[in-house]
Amino acid sequence: MTGKPPYTVLLYYKYVRIEQAEQFAQEHLAYCKQLGVKGRILIASEGINGTLSGTPEQAEQYMSDMRAHPLFSDMVFKIDTAEEHVFKKLFVRHKKELVTLRYEDAELDPNVIGGQRLTPKQFHDYLQRDDVIVLDGRNGYEYDIGHFRGAIRPDVDSFREFPEWIRDHMSELKDKPVLTYCTGGIRCEKLSGLLLQEGFKEVYQLDGGIVTYGQDPEVQGHLFDGKCYVFDERISVPINRTDEDIVVGVCHHCGKPEDRYINCAYDPCHLQHICCEECEAEHSGHCSDACKTNHAAQLQT
Ligand SMILES: [Zn+2]
Ligand SMILES: [Zn+2]
Repeated sequence: MTGKPPYTVLLYYKYVRIEQAEQFAQEHLAYCKQLGVKGRILIASEGINGTLSGTPEQAEQYMSDMRAHPLFSDMVFKIDTAEEHVFKKLFVRHKKELVTLRYEDAELDPNVIGGQRLTPKQFHDYLQRDDVIVLDGRNGYEYDIGHFRGAIRPDVDSFREFPEWIRDHMSELKDKPVLTYCTGGIRCEKLSGLLLQEGFKEVYQLDGGIVTYGQDPEVQGHLFDGKCYVFDERISVPINRTDEDIVVGVCHHCGKPEDRYINCAYDPCHLQHICCEECEAEHSGHCSDACKTNHAAQLQT
């Protein structure tokens, strides 16, 4: 492959008060359609969170248009490249919260309460201290294909399970410094505030998330093992650019090291599971014998 990859992927968020967010979402949808980008953008009265793909020209146009808007003039964009669109469609939606937490009716405004932000370099230094605990701010299935070395795996399938999970599993750890991280930083904005609210004394968050950490020229993703789960067609992206590139996932069927996710071929199940190529062929893409049998029965009727 020569030349520049033909597509640009943007990831961004900003917590800022948006008046008439619902109307803004409608206008933004029309704007994005006209521009021709694809992706998923959420708009709430507390801010914006988006990820999209387009040609480099479309992405440049999007960034400069957003920065021309008084609310988003300082928006930080994480920029990646791809060989094709990483989204099939365009969604621009109005939501109550950018990341659904529903924390006891209390509003955790990241502009008011949140952990201290660490640069990738600072986070890398803190990771190597032996008195800190590292909490992955994502779902268990994201952790399973890649995470920071030594991080705690939260056994949650959605972000709103965090408050209860933290009370059940981390209440003894409130006096220790806690580092949190997530894909692009937005979940930590809430999670670090939540930890402070729950009585943790010293809370730090990785500014810009794993994606920024992987692009940092100095740390180069060091101490991140495996791949980073992403919510688009790529499913995962590499982070660690040092020679310590380790596979941490294991095949659902045979237990071999593997970091590719597939969805169960039996539609009513559709379970996302880690599966090696050999096992995908052997089980024809099914997560279990039951799904294979049910699928065969479905095809016969
Ligand atoms: Zn296998
Ligand atoms: Zn299945």
